[in-house]
Amino acid sequence: MGVLRYGAPMGLSIAMRAIPRDRRVLISEVYLSIQGESTHVGKPCVFVRLNRCPLRCTWCDSEFTFQGGEPADIEDVAQQAHAFGVHTVELTGGEPLIWPAAIPLMQRLLDLGHEVLLETSGALPIEAVPEAVHVIMDLKAPDSGEERRNRWANLEHLRPHHEVKVVIASRRDFDWAVEQVRDRGITDRCEVLFSPAWGHVTPLELTEWVLASGLQIRMQVQLHKVVWDPDARGV
Ligand code: SF4
Repeated sequence: MGVLRYGAPMGLSIAMRAIPRDRRVLISEVYLSIQGESTHVGKPCVFVRLNRCPLRCTWCDSEFTFQGGEPADIEDVAQQAHAFGVHTVELTGGEPLIWPAAIPLMQRLLDLGHEVLLETSGALPIEAVPEAVHVIMDLKAPDSGEERRNRWANLEHLRPHHEVKVVIASRRDFDWAVEQVRDRGITDRCEVLFSPAWGHVTPLELTEWVLASGLQIRMQVQLHKVVWDPDARGV
């Protein structure tokens, strides 16, 4: 597996200023793995992980993105991802959409012929995301501690090739998520996936709840945490 990992750079602010704002992102790693979640699960995928996130989900497994990172020009990032020779590329984080340059970066990856996925928290606007990108948008359930950050207006911009993901950390989260899916008709817009929060809800519990709900939602586990050590990075 190839991993290009970036450390916390020296002279960050100087390096940031050297790249025009509309072309720069802060990046922590570019690596090849399998897609661990979503309807694309199991596919070889190049992950481009952008640093920083305005949220603080209680069960976050990417806290290392909250600081550090390397300023990079989006053309360099696109070429690094492209060099792996893998069709599917995902922008993840952190929250990629915190960087305005994430939009042209996704367009550049599309122009290079890639299938492009975007993992986003659901807290920031998605309407500027290029149409062809497969948006995988979270809804933050109560136990994430970030329920208030859900940007409900994003639902209007979901397309059939997009997906909504809810991480379920408790029965309370599940009941909340079922209510949102039903009341807001989310399964009429796109696929909806529920994931157990690692260490909080077992896959068996969530499976039984999903089956009893009668909803057309998918239950999923994070495949990369089954294949590798759950705390491993770059997988
Ligand atoms: S949105 Fe994602 S990266 Fe940000 S705190 Fe929540 S889980 Fe972590």
